[in-house]
Order: sequence, then C-alpha cells, then structure tokens
Amino acid sequence: MDSKVLTGDADVTIRCERLLESKYKFKKVFLTNSCTNALEMAAMLIDIQPGDEVILPSYTFVSTSNAFALRGAKLIFADSKPDHPNIDEEQIEKLISSKTKAIVIVHYAGIACNMDAIIRLAKKNKIRLIEDAAQCIDSFYDQKALGTFGDIACFSFHETKNIHCGEGGFIAINDASLIERADVLRNKGTNRSAFFSGQVKKYEWVDLGFSAIPSAITSSFLYAQLLDIDKVQLKRKKIWDRYFNNISGLNRSGKVKLPFVPAYASNNAHIFYLVCNDKRERDELIVHLKKDEIQAVFHYQSLHKSPYYLDKHDGRILPNADRYSECLLRLPLFYDLNFKDVDFISQKIIEFYK
Ligand SMILES: *Cc1c(COP(=O)(O)O)cnc(C)c1O
Repeated sequence: MDSKVLTGDADVTIRCERLLESKYKFKKVFLTNSCTNALEMAAMLIDIQPGDEVILPSYTFVSTSNAFALRGAKLIFADSKPDHPNIDEEQIEKLISSKTKAIVIVHYAGIACNMDAIIRLAKKNKIRLIEDAAQCIDSFYDQKALGTFGDIACFSFHETKNIHCGEGGFIAINDASLIERADVLRNKGTNRSAFFSGQVKKYEWVDLGFSAIPSAITSSFLYAQLLDIDKVQLKRKKIWDRYFNNISGLNRSGKVKLPFVPAYASNNAHIFYLVCNDKRERDELIVHLKKDEIQAVFHYQSLHKSPYYLDKHDGRILPNADRYSECLLRLPLFYDLNFKDVDFISQKIIEFYK
C-alpha cells in the first residue's frame, strides 16, 4: 500500500518474476492472472491457426485444451500411460501429421513426463513443445526444473496449487525469440513496455492481446508465498510420504495403486492420489470417507468424451485416460494438515479394504 503503485508491473511483480527466473532458470517469466491466461497467450505466441493440429493428453484440465481450441486448433487427444496419468510418450509419434503444430504436455501431480522421449519427437518433427506446468512449481526432471523444457511453459498460482495468490500464474518463455511478442500480448496487444523503457515515443496497438498482468496486491501476496516456498514444500513432502508409507500395504496387496514416481522425476507433493480397481469401489470409498468428514475427490473427466468435444473427437478409445477418470481418488493435502489427521485418513482407507 505504501508503494502507492497497486497496478501491474509494480516493483513487487517484477521481484516475483526475477525470483522465479533465478531459482528455476527459466529464460523469461511474466506473471499472469492465471495459468489459463498463460496457456491462451502460448497458443497465440506459437501462432496456432484454424486447422492446425495440437497433440495433448485427454486426462487434463479443460484450460489445456480450451486455449488451443479458441484459436481453431484441431485437438488430437493422446492416452495416458498405463502406470501414470501423464501422456504416454509411446503413443505420440503415430498421432503426428503434416498439420501438427504443437505437443502440449501436462506433468500430472507435478510428476515429470518422459522429457527425453518427448523432446526427441518434437525436435525430429520440428513441432513446438508447450508445458502445462500448472502443478509443477519446484519440481524437476533429472535435476532440471519443469517448465524449462518447452518453448513455453505455463504455471498456476490458483488457490489449489502448492503456493498461490488466490488466482494467478505465470508464463515462462524459454525460446528467446518469443519474449518480445509475449510482452506485447500481455499488454493488451500494445507496445506499452517499449514506451516505458523509452524505446518508442508513444504506445500503440500493434498486435492482438490480453489483459494478463496481475496487480501489485496479488503480486505481494504471491511474493510472501515465494519466500516461504521451501518451508511449504518440505511440509507437503512429509505429508505425502506419510500417506505413502501408511497405505503402502494396500499397494503391495493390489487393493489400490499408489502414485508411481519414475527415477527421472522429483516429487513436489502437489497431489496424493490412489487408483482404485474400478469406479464403483472408488465411489464407495468416497462415501465411506465422507462419513468422517474426509473430503476425498476424483479428478478430470476425459476431454475426448466431454460434451463439447465428443462429436469432434476422431473416435479413438483412450482406455487409460478413462480409467483415471473413473478410478483415481485424491486425498486431502494442504499445508496445515497435521500428521494425526493423515494417520486417521489412512486408517479409514485401510478399514474400507478390510
Ligand atoms: C490448475 C490447472 C490449470 C488452470 O490453472 P488456473 O491458474 O486456474 O488457470 C490448468 N492446467 C492444469 C493441469 C491445472 O492443474
């Protein structure tokens, strides 16, 4: 409040951006009002035109697909891996055509996709790679931060993410040739930044754009969260590990499947989930936990079966995406959750399977 500048691009906004760049080695960071906002900018930055094809997982949030559908892209949905909700890298190559403009990957639960394989495919076929890294703050692939692999990566600071500012996010640009235009797009399609840095005498409408700069108030909230990120992550990982150890007996006996973290991926403890053997069992477990006021929730509905896209989808069956839609269950995981409650929730799950 004392700074007297509460609009976007205030000192504190820029402090957040520099902190993210230096901590995680993104080439350029611009805070946005959401990850959705960042994905919409990404689709415009890589110049998606009507009829271009974009390959993306079906098991993801609607913003991943909507941002590209808004620009007229044809969405080519890929299945998830048998052992993880992430896009199955082995299913991508056969989906690539002469019209493929981009692969959009989602690192589900903050766990990295198989980046070596995916980068090889993108390079070989000269297609853009976009990371929906909404859930990926402070997560790594072979020690390198998620969000540094794609031409562009989009992160979320929505309240449901590890750190947040209510609604917010950022776009990380790793292809330097896209930075200048990104600055115009987030400024309503104007060269306002160039004007304020003295490069042009007045600012004008030079491109299409968005209003994508969060206020100083939002940025201040975020800055405080960023300063605490290591503390937050430590606590979340302890909660995640405790769930994992408590319930691992059910994993061994095949009653449920616990999250699989490949050797190349770190775990930022964004989501703790289990995969039940079928939908009925998952739904009954939700009801069982609700009796003790434990809010366990399912997650995405496969987008290739969504009311909006069903008749546009090419009809391929995506069994793993459907299985995660029907059988995956998320357990409560938030900073203030104490170990006693983690143990109680775990006990209730074990009780259900007795
Ligand atoms: C949360 C989330 C989004 C949307 O983030 P917002 O900041 O709410 O726009 C997009 N994609 C994935 C995978 C998400 O988890």
